[in-house]
Amino acid sequence: MPKINENFLKLEKNYLFINIAKKVNSFLKKNPDAPLIRMGIGDVTLPIAPVCVEAMKKGAEEMGVKETFKGYEDSGTGYDFLKKAIAGYYKKFGVSLELDEIRVNDGAKSDCGNIVDIFDDNNIVLITDPAYPVYVDSNKMSGRTIIYADSNEANGFAAMPDSSVHADLIYLCSPNNPTGSAYTRAQLKEWIDYAKANEAIIIYDAAYEAFITDPEVPHSIYEVNGAKECAIEMCSLSKTAGFTGMRCGYTVVPSALHVTTSNGEDVSIAQLWGRRQGSKFNGVSYPVQCAAAAVFTEEGLKQIHENIAYYQENAAIIAKTMDDLGIQYTGGKNSPYIWLKCPKGMSSWDFFDYLLEKIAVVGTPGEGFGKNGKGWFRLTAFGDREKTIEAMERVKKLLSE
Ligand code: PLP
Repeated sequence: MPKINENFLKLEKNYLFINIAKKVNSFLKKNPDAPLIRMGIGDVTLPIAPVCVEAMKKGAEEMGVKETFKGYEDSGTGYDFLKKAIAGYYKKFGVSLELDEIRVNDGAKSDCGNIVDIFDDNNIVLITDPAYPVYVDSNKMSGRTIIYADSNEANGFAAMPDSSVHADLIYLCSPNNPTGSAYTRAQLKEWIDYAKANEAIIIYDAAYEAFITDPEVPHSIYEVNGAKECAIEMCSLSKTAGFTGMRCGYTVVPSALHVTTSNGEDVSIAQLWGRRQGSKFNGVSYPVQCAAAAVFTEEGLKQIHENIAYYQENAAIIAKTMDDLGIQYTGGKNSPYIWLKCPKGMSSWDFFDYLLEKIAVVGTPGEGFGKNGKGWFRLTAFGDREKTIEAMERVKKLLSE
């Protein structure tokens, strides 16, 4: 009989959103006609931009013609046309990337989870709490020691480093899922200095960078001095360009990022990650990469920003409701998430049930993202405008009673 990886038994039994789906399904069984509004899962709702559709169609047609057909991509790391488009996008933030520092993938979740493969299980992993669940789960699966940096009311849900604590790997997500908070350049510099002092590596998740409006908040960690020697950046087109059903993202591993092995050998992290991916990943489909490259064209950026502006307006509507109700929250400005304090001292699951049962609105209980999420709640701005307005009217009426 094979032995299983018993670390899996230490995980929460169900992924957060499965628990939510179960509760919603049982509510709908009892109330089949309830006018449910979903503001829970952070999925986008607007279709992908027309330039992306056209580019994908063209790519698909090329696949049907002998002269332009493509099989496996040679490198499996992404076509140069897409990497050049990504490098051009980073130039807008003053960040210069070599093409071989960029690796195209099927979305950020895969790389966020898989990156652990190249690091020893004895590393001490620091994760800000609350957090996107993949960081915690993937490290628990390999039995690593996780320490948490608290993001809480006192620090505006933007955890900062504690110099008295050592870590080898640090997960940061800015703008943050679930809290919507975003690190300024100065705050990221503190994390970079901490990483360098500890010879640690930062795994920086920039999945929501396209929602940044504040000039003090960098779109990439590489906008901050010193990051190339200590940070891997992961990004995704899922929220930037509505690619949740397309599957495309990218990871940047700078060539300056090196570590020393136990016997003093110098190792490039980019090479190590390349070796891992070479064995376990065969690249992203050609038509999807064509669509991804179209995102970064002038017209593509214009079109995706029309969708982002729509979501930002939804976020403003939710934030205004919270302001009117005097409910404390973070996010909504550089982020599609509003992270609010549950009213009347309710726990986050009690508040979830309360909204579902009383007004058929679904959100996400904060404690599903970690202990500091207790008593907090996430609403997303990725929904339909009319439904967002309707949901906020219901919330306002309910909480003003
Ligand atoms: N990182 C964060 C913080 C996310 O919230 C998400 C998706 O919700 C991802 C990564 C994963 O995105 P992808 O669809 O590219 O796998």
